Amino acid sequence: MEAAGRLIGNWSNGVAIDLHAAYEFLRVKGQVKVWAKFVWNPCLIPKHSFLLWLCARGRLLTRDRLLFLDIDRACPFCCVVEESSDHLFFLCSFNRAVWLQIKVWFGMSRVMSSISSAIKWISKDAKGSSWICKVKRIALACSVYQIWGARNCLIFYGIRPTVEGLVCRIKTFVYKVMFTMYPQVLIHFEALASDRSLFVGFGLVPGYARCTLYIF
Ligand SMILES: [Zn+2]
Repeated sequence: MEAAGRLIGNWSNGVAIDLHAAYEFLRVKGQVKVWAKFVWNPCLIPKHSFLLWLCARGRLLTRDRLLFLDIDRACPFCCVVEESSDHLFFLCSFNRAVWLQIKVWFGMSRVMSSISSAIKWISKDAKGSSWICKVKRIALACSVYQIWGARNCLIFYGIRPTVEGLVCRIKTFVYKVMFTMYPQVLIHFEALASDRSLFVGFGLVPGYARCTLYIF
């Protein structure tokens, strides 16, 4: 009782109780996951964070996890290998081609074979709070989200995407987020994009990209 009294005394400054300290002492603490800081970073769109969180925890309902359903388990893109999270996002020939273009866009060369290795590597490579670090994190989260969306469209609506179309969609989304967050770094961001075909694809010239992209 005496020890408990002393403990509670430590939380109090004589006027009020420090609820944060009390909560931190009482709550059950789990092991901190390496991906948690990345996934719940405020620069990411919540729906992207949520999908990334499911993916990082291995909870995404890819076909290898739907054992209770009598369905074709092949990857909808290549129709050769069983669909799993790692295969779908990183090993499938179709999505590897998508990643290749996104990585070239950002000057990344590292081979990524799973969501945890991708998060680990980008966390190391894009450490800090500068816009250039944020854009790499946004690109990873956005790519995972768009690939998952394309996979669902293919399965449920039979709409087969093209590599160029999907890459263009990812780039546009990344631009939208970045222009919202950092409209003042437009010129630098354009310089980052080695693939100027993005602008050509939208009928844009770099100097006018900002006002046009606000339309989306
Ligand atoms: Zn595949």
